[in-house]
Amino acid sequence: MTFLLHPALRCPIEAAPFKLDGPSLICSHGHRFDIARQGYVNFLGPNDKRSRDPGDSKKMVSARAAFLGANFYRPLADACLDITRKYCSQIARDAITLMDAGCGDGYFIHHVQENLSNDLRKRMSLVGFDISKWAMQKSARRCKATWFVGSNRNIPMIDKSVDLLFDMFGFPDYASFSKLLAPHGRLVRVTPGNSHLIQLRQIIYSKIKDKSERKPYPETLRAVSEKHITYEVVLRSKDIHNLLLMTPHMFRSTSEHRQRALNQDQLTVTIDVMLEELIPTAAR
Ligand SMILES: [Zn+2]
Repeated sequence: MTFLLHPALRCPIEAAPFKLDGPSLICSHGHRFDIARQGYVNFLGPNDKRSRDPGDSKKMVSARAAFLGANFYRPLADACLDITRKYCSQIARDAITLMDAGCGDGYFIHHVQENLSNDLRKRMSLVGFDISKWAMQKSARRCKATWFVGSNRNIPMIDKSVDLLFDMFGFPDYASFSKLLAPHGRLVRVTPGNSHLIQLRQIIYSKIKDKSERKPYPETLRAVSEKHITYEVVLRSKDIHNLLLMTPHMFRSTSEHRQRALNQDQLTVTIDVMLEELIPTAAR
């Protein structure tokens, strides 16, 4: 697989431009990064890693791919697609960069790419990264985009180079997102609402905690739209298994409680998310 070199990609060490050199990327200062056989580059240095294998494990990534592959989040992917189409229709420029920060197994990018018209697809550069190399191995096999292993804290792209920035259930870094967004750019966030997976949480916990207040956004970003997406899906036992595996931080519980959830043959759960669009504020 070849690596798709986005023109705004910069060396994470000192922001020099890259060129392709056989099986690696080399920056103008001579730093070299190998291109993995699946077609992504790993930009995480030893100092960026808090563990030897950061981010989602191979098992978690497989569970996520299986869960998303069953299309339980398809309406969310469609909402991303709608936003992308609308954005493209409002922007006259030929080249538009869409980035998914913390893209996991690449499900959302793939959905957007597959469903855009040919004309839009030609205008669009897709970029996805995740801190998990296992996630990147899956993503890079899915479709053609600029894929790399990296973290929100240090996204190796030129300032103001991203038009559409997706943060799907991620851990946002607003300072770096604000720098990255083009002046006319959009940050699109999908976050769980109060009733998200509530039926499953009721089985797992004896008491459901009230969601704490949402933190306000920094002054560099302003929400321009906000909508709730709510629907129900029917999960089978294997789907519940995948869901528990892919979001362990969400379901910290005893093994007895988890088993109670896994024993359900079938469970109807609410998907309840908030979809927000934010723009960079003028004063920057
Ligand atoms: Zn360099």
